[in-house]
Amino acid sequence: MAILLHSEPTLRDAQNDSSQDSHGLQRPAPGTGIEWELNRKLQTSLDINQILNFFFEAVHTELACTHFSYDCPESGLELSQGKAKRHTCNYQLKLANESLGRLRFTRSRRFSEQDLQRVEELLCLLVYPLRNALMYKAALQQAMRDTLTGTLNRAAFDTMLAKEIEIAERHNNPLSLLVLDIDHFKNINDSFGHAMGDNALRAMVDRVNEKIRSSDIMFRYGGEEFTIILSNTGTDGALLLAERIREAIEEMLYINDDASIRITVSIGVSTLVTAESGSELFERADKALYEAKRTGRNQVLLAK
Ligand code: GH3
Ligand code: MG
Ligand code: MG
Repeated sequence: MAILLHSEPTLRDAQNDSSQDSHGLQRPAPGTGIEWELNRKLQTSLDINQILNFFFEAVHTELACTHFSYDCPESGLELSQGKAKRHTCNYQLKLANESLGRLRFTRSRRFSEQDLQRVEELLCLLVYPLRNALMYKAALQQAMRDTLTGTLNRAAFDTMLAKEIEIAERHNNPLSLLVLDIDHFKNINDSFGHAMGDNALRAMVDRVNEKIRSSDIMFRYGGEEFTIILSNTGTDGALLLAERIREAIEEMLYINDDASIRITVSIGVSTLVTAESGSELFERADKALYEAKRTGRNQVLLAK
């Protein structure tokens, strides 16, 4: 395993005989056009895929590597290009104590000491732009999450609903939406305090997460109102799931040191119809929710 520690000694691990020559590979001197061009390109993007592509292009041009892979478990990233060849070199990228992921190159020829030195020169150009791109991705992800419950937020809902509708239409798959709202939540805050209300909200989200599949996505739409996008799910499946969620929350008793809280929810359900927009799909489920509230609460109603 190779480690590149910025401003610290560079260690690396190439699974080849580094005493061998690079079999005549041309190596431009540092500071040549390729380096300048790579540096320029790396400054133009905050997109991790694009940044790595620029880098891989340069390594390909300079060292004829035809296979690259990158993974960064901390950021949930895993990319690879080309078919793995016999000789590999690996770099664990770190800046101070921050992990920037792991890069791997392979090719059919061995890597010479000079080749590895060249890779490291190029890596020095990559680390800061890569770190900026990773930070940008983390910030975007953070901006999509609600801090109280950890669910995705309204902005994420708007983006993802549009995407899910596009996919459903393209593949002619069903798509359903649940809009869920806690009944008389104001009473909970009034009786037990806002902090207990917050805890009950979090407990409810955990309970819903236990009931939905990993492909179902929950969002905090606002206040104590949540939406759940059910991809590949028609009306029957959506009603069944909504009822399971409603029951699971009704059965749940949120117990704290000096109080035990029972909450119920009302849920509106809609299934995408031809040429419907995201806001129309939401509107219909929200109307059904309103009807469920009006006619008694703690129930599931299907949209018209
Ligand atoms: P309904 O059954 O008609 O939905 O009644 P409700 O009391 O739930 O509805 P209303 O819209 O009147 O009140 C919503 C309450 O939810 C009021 C608001 O203080 C509370 N609430 C919204 N977000 C939060 C939150 O993050 N934490 C806490 N503790 N309360 C919240
Ligand atoms: Mg409510
Ligand atoms: Mg509400």
